[in-house]
Amino acid sequence: MTDFLSSDTLSGLVQGAYIVAGVLFILALAGLSKHETAKRGNVFGMTGMALALVATLVLAARNAAILPDQRPFAITLTLIVVAMLIGGSIGAWRARTVEMTQMPELVAMLHSFVGLAAVLVGYNSYFEPGAADEGSLAAIHSAEVFLGVFIGAVTFTGSIVAYLKLSARMKSSPLVLPARHLLNLLILIVSAGLMVWFMADHSDNAIIPLLIMTALALFLGFHLVAAIGGGDMPVVVSMLNSYSGWAAAAAGFMLSNDLLIITGSLVGASGAILSYIMCRAMNRSFISVILGGFGSDGAVTGEVKDYGEHRETNAEEVAELLANARKVVITPGYGMAVAQAQYPVAEMTSKLRARGVDVRFGIHPVAGRLPGHMNVLLAEAKVPYDIVLEMDEINPDFPDTDVVLVIGANDTVNPAANEDPSSPIAGMPVLEVWNAHDVIVFKRSMATGYAGVQNPLFFRENSRMLFGDAKERVDDIVRALG
Ligand code: NDP
Repeated sequence: MTDFLSSDTLSGLVQGAYIVAGVLFILALAGLSKHETAKRGNVFGMTGMALALVATLVLAARNAAILPDQRPFAITLTLIVVAMLIGGSIGAWRARTVEMTQMPELVAMLHSFVGLAAVLVGYNSYFEPGAADEGSLAAIHSAEVFLGVFIGAVTFTGSIVAYLKLSARMKSSPLVLPARHLLNLLILIVSAGLMVWFMADHSDNAIIPLLIMTALALFLGFHLVAAIGGGDMPVVVSMLNSYSGWAAAAAGFMLSNDLLIITGSLVGASGAILSYIMCRAMNRSFISVILGGFGSDGAVTGEVKDYGEHRETNAEEVAELLANARKVVITPGYGMAVAQAQYPVAEMTSKLRARGVDVRFGIHPVAGRLPGHMNVLLAEAKVPYDIVLEMDEINPDFPDTDVVLVIGANDTVNPAANEDPSSPIAGMPVLEVWNAHDVIVFKRSMATGYAGVQNPLFFRENSRMLFGDAKERVDDIVRALG
């Protein structure tokens, strides 16, 4: 057994398994890019992860057999299994109980674990460098430790702040400290200096720059995300996703684990690409998002402006309007998810389609609280994919639309983004629903949306408000349609 464990064949098998797992992760990402293939993508990802775990356990068994001073493999295995059982049970419980609307906060919290893991791996690797502490490897190892701890610490506190903001435990408005860009720059420069000290110092004192940098990086993560306002949170979540990937890749370098490097890089790169795509969807530059300060609570955004009176309507009137319409577009938002109104919305859609009304959906890229949120809800309620269109596809059709139903959406249908250069969401592409003949807005009050800015749409001549919980109101319409 020991002979086999120490053989080259075993090393080859483990490396082969890592390559197969890496390919499965790439297939998983490809599958996740479309609704139709998302389930298959998940299966590829799970298979890859199972393979990676088995290969890593085999590697641990081999190390226990051939390296001196290793603890018995049975103890290592028990520790891993116990940790996996505890972590896996908590993960399975959270995944089953989490609401779709809480998904971004859960993801943000999970990113913080990756950050913390990278910091812990970094310190462990500093105290137990193994073979990496000799010759030219030592310098590379020091750089890996320093960068891994830095990225991990920024990801850790940044993700915690994102979690607190998304779960409304912390105000979503940006924290704007005086000279905040200078402060960030200073932290980067000081950290670079500390890295030089850390790499040059071969005594026990090297822990000092490492500790100071850790404290600075923890503060930088907090400050970077605290400075970003509510409207930019979707980009922050995907940016932290990217950071957590780079943190994992850094841990992979420290542990000399090729698969962790590959997986971390895949997550890092895909998170960065997603952030870029989302910035384009919101017409914001990536740099301006990272530098923060955007989005506020409304008090400083011209809320005092008098937009005039809004008009109200009721479910019966809306049902009649819909029954007589030729073309209807539904633009859902976060409120549809909160109310869980997707099922009655699907029922209303099929009733109208049965009467020959052309019903379609217009989806804004950041409607809801996570990319693809609305698409997932509509698919869950069995709304056919082919009537669910992207913002760019539906926008030119609004002038030719009789009725638009804005169901629990606010920022994503705000004309101020196009018309008021002083608005905090100026320049963000929006669903131009006001170009339709009639607009019905489903919400509970005149309150603002996530970005905290008032919406002049509600006061337009062709808009009417249908107040109340979106699910109850759509149920009323379904009943009135008969
Ligand atoms: P908004 O948050 O702008 O508006 C949602 C509206 O729904 C509110 O005005 C609220 O009004 C209404 N609402 C809430 N609950 C109910 C209910 N039970 N019944 C009826 N209405 C309800 O949502 P949008 O989807 O338009 O915009 C998304 C916003 O979230 C954007 O600012 C985006 O940047 C941000 N964001 C998006 C993420 C993403 O990845 N998609 C992630 C994080 C943030 P009232 O209280 O009066 O009912």
